[in-house]
Amino acid sequence: MRLGFDIDDTLIDLRRHAFRLYNAQLDQNIPESVFEEIPTVEIHKPFGLTDEEGYEMWKANMRDIYFTDCPAFPNAVEVLNRLNDEGHEIFYITSRPKGFCKESEAWVREKGFPVKGDQFFCGMEDHEKIATIEKLQLDFYIDDKPKVLNTLKELSTTLIIRDQSYNQKESFLRLEHWADFEKIIGEK
Ligand SMILES: [Mg+2]
Repeated sequence: MRLGFDIDDTLIDLRRHAFRLYNAQLDQNIPESVFEEIPTVEIHKPFGLTDEEGYEMWKANMRDIYFTDCPAFPNAVEVLNRLNDEGHEIFYITSRPKGFCKESEAWVREKGFPVKGDQFFCGMEDHEKIATIEKLQLDFYIDDKPKVLNTLKELSTTLIIRDQSYNQKESFLRLEHWADFEKIIGEK
């Protein structure tokens, strides 16, 4: 099968990692129970930042957010390697900014995910992912953002949403734990 994966907050716990970095940098100690209830993709509100300050904070910390020790979600690395070993085609489609693409590919590989050179797509806007996903003729695509998945509804690709506090109202097939992914796509 041809399987497409978003990276941030789908395969790796990026917002939580950023939340910890914000706590350290702003000398605060906001508990993770607060993080888990944030109803938006953006994480700056609990820190008392305006949208503009939040945007600047994210931008200023992007390198650390992306390239330090952000953890993968439990079982994600193992499941993707197993699927790769079984002969499935694994594609990554991330809207990380163009300037971070090469390093991101290397980081994802270093983290243990199976990455083939021509199967890492990066640097598009969220609404531009559709062009890549359509061209790749994916059987399944998984992402955390409703904003992305809602642009893909017309494709024949089966869409899966990675369960997050900010996407609870969406009715896509839902993945809560990576250990269940193979069952969802009918491979177990
Ligand atoms: Mg994402």
